[in-house]
Amino acid sequence: MSADIIDGKLFAEGVKARVAAAVPAFVEKTGRAPGLAVVLVGEDPPSRVYVRSKGKATIAAGMESFEHLLDDDTSQQALLDLVRALNEDPNVDGILVQLPLPGQIDEKAVIGAIDPAKDVDGFHVDNAGKLAVGEDALVPCTPLGCIMMLKDRLGDLSGLEAVVVGRSNIVGKPMAQLLLKENCTVTIAHSRTRDLADVVGRGDIVVAAVGRPAMVKGDWIKPGATVIDVGINRVDGKLVGDVDFGSASEVAGAITPVPGGVGPMTIAVLLRNTLVAAHAREGLTPPEGL
Ligand code: NDP
Repeated sequence: MSADIIDGKLFAEGVKARVAAAVPAFVEKTGRAPGLAVVLVGEDPPSRVYVRSKGKATIAAGMESFEHLLDDDTSQQALLDLVRALNEDPNVDGILVQLPLPGQIDEKAVIGAIDPAKDVDGFHVDNAGKLAVGEDALVPCTPLGCIMMLKDRLGDLSGLEAVVVGRSNIVGKPMAQLLLKENCTVTIAHSRTRDLADVVGRGDIVVAAVGRPAMVKGDWIKPGATVIDVGINRVDGKLVGDVDFGSASEVAGAITPVPGGVGPMTIAVLLRNTLVAAHAREGLTPPEGL
């Protein structure tokens, strides 16, 4: 194996430590801790575990955690009422509604009801639009975590060829916008892309966010490229990324593993976004280098 392994767990610990270090100054200035509300509808055990770990990480960073665990048969109106109450709550700086939602609830309506200033997931169209036109916005946690790791690894990304495989609103599109903002030449590939191997081969940076186990093969990758694997797939009880780690790590210059790559960054960036939202709501400037 020749590629360096990008340790997302270690990187995430650094982000969390910077957030935790900035909380006391916020408390001193405002007389309250930043607050994150997480809403989960339904009993899905992995989602419950995930929400619990978000709550624990929030408290560990010195912030306030508000958990709302709702029944599977919660109506859309009840969820919208809760979101509006959280919008009005002065102690809540960030609102995260865990997706996917049960079939009786329209996800778009719920995301659209979140106050954009508290939209720490960055999914509201106001924030997506701001990102698209290059204004300051709350940016989706997973792609923001990826860009932070890329900049840490590569420094200035200007002029690099970046290939993003996947065009979801949650990962692929915001990832491409962030890479463009860093002056990369960006290609977005998706399920209709012809000759994906050829397209991936152009990338000095390859970000895979597809949801298909080990789909991106090592012999597609440009030697020395930096490969960020967002995929989380469960195969025979094991977590596997969208990149064929064995063959890709023979060719890439650096690669994120699954697990232990992008995954841990998502919660760390959620805490970072909550702190940033809290500062903005109080008219304060967040500390640099968060
Ligand atoms: P979506 O299912 O919303 O999007 C998948 C994208 O992959 C689509 O744009 C689709 O194209 C594209 N695609 C599907 N098949 C192919 C193919 N054969 N060739 C090229 N492109 C293809 O997934 P998400 O973006 O939400 O998530 C992607 C992966 O990232 C998943 O494994 C998910 O679990 C993981 N994830 C991990 C997170 C983390 O914290 N690490 C957070 C969020 C997601 P088209 O648009 O044409 O259908």
